[in-house]
Amino acid sequence: MKAMMLTGIRKMEMKHVPEPLISDDHDVKIRMDVVGVCGSDIHYYQQGKIGSQVVQYPFTVGHEGAGTVVETGPTVTRVKPGDRIAIEPAMPCHECDQCLAGRHHTCRKLKFLGCPGQAEGCLSEYLVMPETSCFPISHRLTFDEAAISEPLAIGIYAVRQSIPMPNSSIAVLGSGPIGMSVMLAAKAAGCLKVYMTDKLDERLLCVKQAGADWTGNVDKVDVVSLIHHQKPLMLDAVFECCGKQEAFDQAIELLKPGGKLILVGIPEFDHWQVPADVARRKEITIQNIRRQVDCVEPALEYLSNGTIKVTAMATHRFAFKDTPSAFELVAGYRDGVMKAMIDFRI
Ligand SMILES: [Zn+2]
Ligand SMILES: [Zn+2]
Repeated sequence: MKAMMLTGIRKMEMKHVPEPLISDDHDVKIRMDVVGVCGSDIHYYQQGKIGSQVVQYPFTVGHEGAGTVVETGPTVTRVKPGDRIAIEPAMPCHECDQCLAGRHHTCRKLKFLGCPGQAEGCLSEYLVMPETSCFPISHRLTFDEAAISEPLAIGIYAVRQSIPMPNSSIAVLGSGPIGMSVMLAAKAAGCLKVYMTDKLDERLLCVKQAGADWTGNVDKVDVVSLIHHQKPLMLDAVFECCGKQEAFDQAIELLKPGGKLILVGIPEFDHWQVPADVARRKEITIQNIRRQVDCVEPALEYLSNGTIKVTAMATHRFAFKDTPSAFELVAGYRDGVMKAMIDFRI
């Protein structure tokens, strides 16, 4: 089968590799239909690593996938050949202390699709996953929506780890797909007002149309004083969704005393700088978010009952063979790209 593999920094090639086989009774073989390009894929593409996770070439990335079941192991009950599914990229061991505590996302032996040293990603024609990673989707859902359920699940999880949303006012700093997912999840959970920032006007327009109450371009306006003007008592929670120190600093300023800062973005540096004095005086709580756990089903439910709409997130579409162009586009933040979808059907 064909697999799109990273072969070096900013290098990618289509390779012929053996089709994966069902090796466990609980395995499911999937033909890929759509894969969303994620910011973390771009980190591996451009830097060859995220923190301590370093790519050994050649390597296939991709973890936001949707496809069709083509074969199942003998004990599989969740899905059958022909089923359209969303793929949960995490493959936890189900046995360690973290798994037993319900924290499958921090499993000690976690294998995650397209994560170096763990599992090859889903930018390939076929994939084998345990049935616990396969979520059948309703006929109302498109493969795009199924693939986007992965980042949406992270938004839902981040919101669940924050504060009660009804009547809250929050900021989401960074309006990429994850920031947008946080906003959509917050709104669906009853958040009153979402202030969003970014450096790209196209993204701000996109999230505004999708439901953000206020948007500001950090390169053009003083977002902290503008939000302060509208909301003198400041905000209940701020979600950092771009991995930038300046956003972290803005978050500390934007929070009211007792507020919560939720770190969702992936920084390219090793250490956050916390302003000790103001963070202490305001008694700010800082919550880190590691992907998500148990939020794929809620994401699919929100999408299939229409509470959350994500089609606007899929701004660009590429054939599988053109994946390198998709990565270049996303890496360069070109053409107002929010999310590029790799479509195996075209
Ligand atoms: Zn992702
Ligand atoms: Zn485990």
